[in-house]
Amino acid sequence: DRPLAQTDPEVHAAIAAELGRQHATLEMIASENFAPVSVMAAQGSVLTNKYAEGYPGRRYYGGCEHVDVVEQLAIDRLCDLFGAQYANVQPHSGAQANAAVMAALLSPGDTILGLDLAHGGHLTHGMRLNFSGKLYDVAAYHVRADDHRVDMDEVARLAREHRPQLIVAGWSAYPRHLDFAAFRAIADEVGAYLMVDMAHFAGLVAAGLHPSPVPHAHVVTSTTHKTLGGPRGGVILTADRTLAKKLNSSVFPGQQGGPLEHVIAAKAVAFKLAGTPEFRERCERTLSGARILAERLVGEPGIGVVSGGTDVHLVLVDLRDSELDGKQAEDRLHRVGITVNRNAVPFDPRPPMVSSGVRIGTAALATRGFGADGFREVADVIARALRPEITAIELDALTYRVAALADRHPLYTEVTP
Ligand code: PLP
Repeated sequence: DRPLAQTDPEVHAAIAAELGRQHATLEMIASENFAPVSVMAAQGSVLTNKYAEGYPGRRYYGGCEHVDVVEQLAIDRLCDLFGAQYANVQPHSGAQANAAVMAALLSPGDTILGLDLAHGGHLTHGMRLNFSGKLYDVAAYHVRADDHRVDMDEVARLAREHRPQLIVAGWSAYPRHLDFAAFRAIADEVGAYLMVDMAHFAGLVAAGLHPSPVPHAHVVTSTTHKTLGGPRGGVILTADRTLAKKLNSSVFPGQQGGPLEHVIAAKAVAFKLAGTPEFRERCERTLSGARILAERLVGEPGIGVVSGGTDVHLVLVDLRDSELDGKQAEDRLHRVGITVNRNAVPFDPRPPMVSSGVRIGTAALATRGFGADGFREVADVIARALRPEITAIELDALTYRVAALADRHPLYTEVTP
């Protein structure tokens, strides 16, 4: 058995190049983070070899005594972290977690009410081409035009009109807190389940820096790789143990076969780390970094930030009044070494492939050690790079500033591909 570099030089070279990219550029995609080396060690372990259909203590395969320990640790740690009574750590991704919850609580043809994709919702909250839009009838709520906050009057009105079986609260591009209690009151009024998808803000909840949906929702889903900082994956949790059986059988055998025990081990490590003071301090830097960025950008002519600021780890830059569209802004930032994604803003006049926004997150840079000074510097670089009239020479100067910032914040110095 030879090292990867010898067995497969092409894959090895691509991984080495990706490691170089992650070090040399500034990662500001709001849904990304850097998994700690300990998380990657668990994920790259021999647990990848093991079949373990079923749940700890109730498996359909022999030899599960060690993966049982790992999976139970992940379940217990997740429950502790969020004050939940039940957790399922097997969903392979956030989308799988949402699919499993919907399959558990709904029948095809039932109605779901979720935040419109164009206003910050996720594909799995009812987008037409996604399983959620194909299997279920969908009603979508929106943010208000004046302050870009979710319009709870509209949520209540649509709930009374469509009588959904499930209301989804959660987002992929929304810079504010949701009112989980108000969502639950509406769900109770119309006899709907409330599912909160905390994929983006789960790390902030774990750190105690964002309201928790767990006391309010019937079910909470999440990814484990965004602000939570773990391996790519999904989870389901709830304070309501009566749903446990339904949810478990919906994940396995309903949606999935063998769980990815190596990823579950990595999740367990990440949940342990997310309970530490160091993690909380990192989330505090994440939040203050996003606020620094929002404050710097609102001062720029032609640039706005959706909702006027942020309460979370991301800023949604509004370019509706700029000559630059979202695609051009994404390319500009890529040119200077900052990675973001273009994103529609609410009431966007430009088509989705171009869009009038960029979504910028601070979690990955906070993990990399950025504090207020680093975030002020990167905010200034972004503000200047988004000036429509900037020259190639000025862009080159910004590229050097980005490279210097990257060098000052080393990443994965011990990791070899
Ligand atoms: N839910 C929300 C709110 C998300 O933002 C995302 C990912 O972007 C997902 C679910 C899906 O997660 P995954 O990409 O792991 O399927």
